[in-house]
Amino acid sequence: MIIMPGIFGIDIDDVICQTNPLILRLLKEFYGVDIRWEWLTSYYFARTKGFPLTQEQVDRAYGEFTAGASLAAEPLAGAREALLSLRAAGHRLCLITARPESMKGDTEKWLAEYGIPYDELIFSGRKHLIEKIGYWVEDKGSQAKLLAESGKPVFLMDYPWNRRTRRHPNIRRVRNWAEIMDLLRFFAIIK
Ligand SMILES: [Mg+2]
Repeated sequence: MIIMPGIFGIDIDDVICQTNPLILRLLKEFYGVDIRWEWLTSYYFARTKGFPLTQEQVDRAYGEFTAGASLAAEPLAGAREALLSLRAAGHRLCLITARPESMKGDTEKWLAEYGIPYDELIFSGRKHLIEKIGYWVEDKGSQAKLLAESGKPVFLMDYPWNRRTRRHPNIRRVRNWAEIMDLLRFFAIIK
């Protein structure tokens, strides 16, 4: 993977914001089931083998999330510091999310609350069509695959729900933001 300065396209849910852990907390509250995110082997929870709830039950938690509960989510460790460093090194930060646009207010509020820096906030699930992005950070396997196929390097945040995503020369699997920053330092993109 060759890294040069550019515009970063950064996903929000489970890349900046600990979304799935919050959804699981909501599911526990609603149905009394204790599900650990480490068990989720599919991006769509109900497709995980042995998952104890139906998609409709999961959707209820997503409904809450969309309607205000998202503000209770915690940021991912190191995300803020990493984005501050990228910006200080002259990169532009586009936060690109497939959240519904009705969440714009809550999303902006949450980003401000945790001091997450960004230049642009875009609501779109069709990320591969956004040509100006030079580098992507993503956790959804199918999305990462599309982005990689569009010819752009992708840092894929490693999670159980994307472990079946096939290897691709443009996909670099990383465990956390610290690893992304180490790679960027290695390629002398930041100091
Ligand atoms: Mg995501």
